[in-house]
Amino acid sequence: MLQYKEICGALHLHTTFSDGGVDYPAMIKTAQVLNLDFIVVTDHMTLQGLQSGYEGFHDTLAVLCGYEHNDRNNRNHYLAMGVNRVFTDATEPQTYIDAVKGNGGIGFLAHPAEKRNYMAAFPAYPWTTWEIDRFDGIEIWNQFSDWVEQLRTWKSVIRLCFPRRFIKRAPQELLKKWDELNVSRYVSGVGGVDAHTMTYKKGLFTFKVFPIKVELKGIRTHLYIPENQTDNDFDNYKKTILNSLKNGHSFISNFRRGDASGSVFTLVTKNGTMYPPGNFVYDSPPVALQVSIPKTAEIRLIIDNIVVKTACAREASFDSIASGVYRIEVHRKDSVWMYSNPFRIFKV
Ligand SMILES: [Zn+2]
Ligand SMILES: [Zn+2]
Repeated sequence: MLQYKEICGALHLHTTFSDGGVDYPAMIKTAQVLNLDFIVVTDHMTLQGLQSGYEGFHDTLAVLCGYEHNDRNNRNHYLAMGVNRVFTDATEPQTYIDAVKGNGGIGFLAHPAEKRNYMAAFPAYPWTTWEIDRFDGIEIWNQFSDWVEQLRTWKSVIRLCFPRRFIKRAPQELLKKWDELNVSRYVSGVGGVDAHTMTYKKGLFTFKVFPIKVELKGIRTHLYIPENQTDNDFDNYKKTILNSLKNGHSFISNFRRGDASGSVFTLVTKNGTMYPPGNFVYDSPPVALQVSIPKTAEIRLIIDNIVVKTACAREASFDSIASGVYRIEVHRKDSVWMYSNPFRIFKV
């Protein structure tokens, strides 16, 4: 890709400032060991991380502190990023969506499609109020949800010992909704970890199901940022990260299925200019949608939640792209490896 470079990070993390299992220093250290470029911590209804001075560069890792807002029934969780206060008075989803935007921040509906009801310890926290607008995007794939939605009992030893093996895909009905929303305006998608470093206790026996190092080796969000973006000014770098998240210049991967770094999802125009996923307005139609991934997998072109073309390859070029909303899924065996953000392509 000509004008963009890729950075990779993890979103939707909880620390001991809310109900997470590790504190900021441990979270930061782990993200550094795993070579992530950025993390976005979103503790429940608190910006204590920001107030404690954790936001900023920690060596080459950019740490952003947002928070997760919920309504009075603990539904409609919203990942707020780039804000400088918690809107404790806002109890209706549209009110906090607007408050976040008014503060210069961006927001994503968190784990909207949860519906599990097998275990009292893990109730579902779905998004229930859909008469809303002006949110920036949706967390289409939530690592913790994907794993726990299948958990019927604590006796699922294999699920507890090898949690990442059971992270499979985003909920199909949510992808359908996402595609529908994108017909009328751009709605970006992110993948979230929802890291809590969950501990299972039974008598004297204590077991960490998802140590933080395991959690951060799962669902990641990769951003395309301008190639000339430097990292000597944090505020500027942060703005760039939030901008890419909001505009969908990104894709989501599950690291368990392979390191997706270096993958390219790009729209190519007649004069050879390449564009990342996001909104694209044209006066002459683009030539192709091209995909390049680090190892062979099944690349699917999706329109309106329908697979229209597939290629089992490392590289694919889908030609004759007309107006519409396209996205790419990359599958390995029975699991999803990557979701690109939509290419929303329309004539001027
Ligand atoms: Zn939540
Ligand atoms: Zn959460």
